[in-house]
Amino acid sequence: MDTALALTMPRTLPQPAPVRALRSVAPLPAEQPAATVPTTDWRSAAIAAYWQDQPDAFSAMVADLRLRLLDLIGRAPDAAAVIVDRFARTAQVAIDGVIFRLQDQDLVLLRGCAACGLRQYVSPPIRSRADLGYALAIWEPRCPDCEPEDPREW
Ligand SMILES: [Zn+2]
Repeated sequence: MDTALALTMPRTLPQPAPVRALRSVAPLPAEQPAATVPTTDWRSAAIAAYWQDQPDAFSAMVADLRLRLLDLIGRAPDAAAVIVDRFARTAQVAIDGVIFRLQDQDLVLLRGCAACGLRQYVSPPIRSRADLGYALAIWEPRCPDCEPEDPREW
């Protein structure tokens, strides 16, 4: 008896609530266009302000990357060769096959997995020529499932 009651209660109780909710929500879409105009205005204004600031921010990133590379390797890449990712907020350039990237105020290298080469990894921040030397000579990123080969198997 108790279990029969428990089974029938949930079946009957929740039903009226969704029906009431649908009835009260249904008239709103007809008035929605007028109500959403102020909403889109402040959003549009914020988005426009963002894009207005972007050219300065992106050219500053390109200039920063070029200056750091000039300081580090004695070469400043052509500004037109620098690729800026507006969404990731990064600037990167390839020099002699080495990919340099400016991200989060840090200069880093990008390199594929040393074993499979399929995934790309970001080096530790490069703040000196020695950091660059480490990233070029020692750092060998690997995917979690790309273990180094065991030389004893040869
Ligand atoms: Zn791999």
